[in-house]
Amino acid sequence: MTRVLLDNISKTYPGVAPSVAGLTLNIAEGELFTLLGPSGCGKSTTLRMVAGFVQPTGGRILFDDTDVTNAAPNRRNTGMVFQNYALFPHLTVAGNVSYGLNARKVTAAQKHSRIDTALSQVGLDGYGDRRIDMLSGGQQQRVALARALVIRPSVLLLDEPLSNLDAKLREETRTEIRATQKEAGITCLYVTHDQAEAMSMSDRIAVLEAGEVHQVASPRDVYHRPATAFVARFIGRSNVFTSEVVAIESHTVVVRLGEGTIVKAPIVADTASASATVGMTTAVSLRPEAISLTVNPVTVGSHELTGRVLTAEFTGAVNIYEVDWHGQTLVVSVPGALDRADPGDTVAMAPAQGLVWMVHP
Ligand code: ADP
Ligand code: MG
Repeated sequence: MTRVLLDNISKTYPGVAPSVAGLTLNIAEGELFTLLGPSGCGKSTTLRMVAGFVQPTGGRILFDDTDVTNAAPNRRNTGMVFQNYALFPHLTVAGNVSYGLNARKVTAAQKHSRIDTALSQVGLDGYGDRRIDMLSGGQQQRVALARALVIRPSVLLLDEPLSNLDAKLREETRTEIRATQKEAGITCLYVTHDQAEAMSMSDRIAVLEAGEVHQVASPRDVYHRPATAFVARFIGRSNVFTSEVVAIESHTVVVRLGEGTIVKAPIVADTASASATVGMTTAVSLRPEAISLTVNPVTVGSHELTGRVLTAEFTGAVNIYEVDWHGQTLVVSVPGALDRADPGDTVAMAPAQGLVWMVHP
């Protein structure tokens, strides 16, 4: 298995803002590591630099201790799956999968056995003679994965490989891809703009915006401990408050959200809370499910926010409310079994103790 180090790599095309601006990432052996961010943030450019299709403007790329920054693509032993699969429609499944082996010195017998193994890895045993254009989208996706695996790559690179599938198939396939990757034990760099996909598959996620990394962490941590307001908003839905630090206690930062509402965020090393100082303007993230609602409250506590319900959406498991709070629209989700509020209702919103999280603005 192979470690991958991106050491301060950047890519700047002439006349435009940098596509990738000094990215440093350490990807562990056998890890499924995801680059997540909106369209245009530099995910594909980064992946292509690792594959060798794009030459970095600065920085180094290492596979284990070998510097591959200037190595040709075919010397890096990476397997790549593209968004559109790039399969040959006139070839059979086996013809497509064997394509990657053509440039390699393998006997005909070895070739057959490796194609069979790769097809088996993706659950397509016995499909070798089928024509590509006779396969479903999901099956074509697996052929593309088999073609990447057949060369026994040191590093597997997947660029939005599920975006051509419908929603249900996408959900099934992400579990399959992770299982295949873990079974094969190949280090994998995965690219997506879909946060649910990233959360469900990855060991760790790097959240990117405009060529820069905001956070590298486990799915749990990017969700519950977002580093920045951008991450809080991009992963799931979140309410981000511009706020002021009013006091610092031994384990918590005391923050005023506005209109006198006071909440406390835990102090955690290496996060925004650790560098808080009294009087500074900061931001606080509160997930929709970290807020409880009281309809037509009789009294409102100093830690609560009062607002008016704008919309109420019943989805079965949860009720989702949009609530106007001094011109800012907050999102609150409440288990569906609990009492409902209606548009126009006045509600008190109480942040759950311990789920208030301070982020870099
Ligand atoms: P993503 O995959 O995250 O959507 P890309 O890596 O494709 O983003 O692109 C990042 C940025 O680099 C975009 O602004 C894009 O327009 C720009 N870019 C990518 N390739 C080129 C190119 N060959 N020439 C100029 N600009 C490019
Ligand atoms: Mg892309």
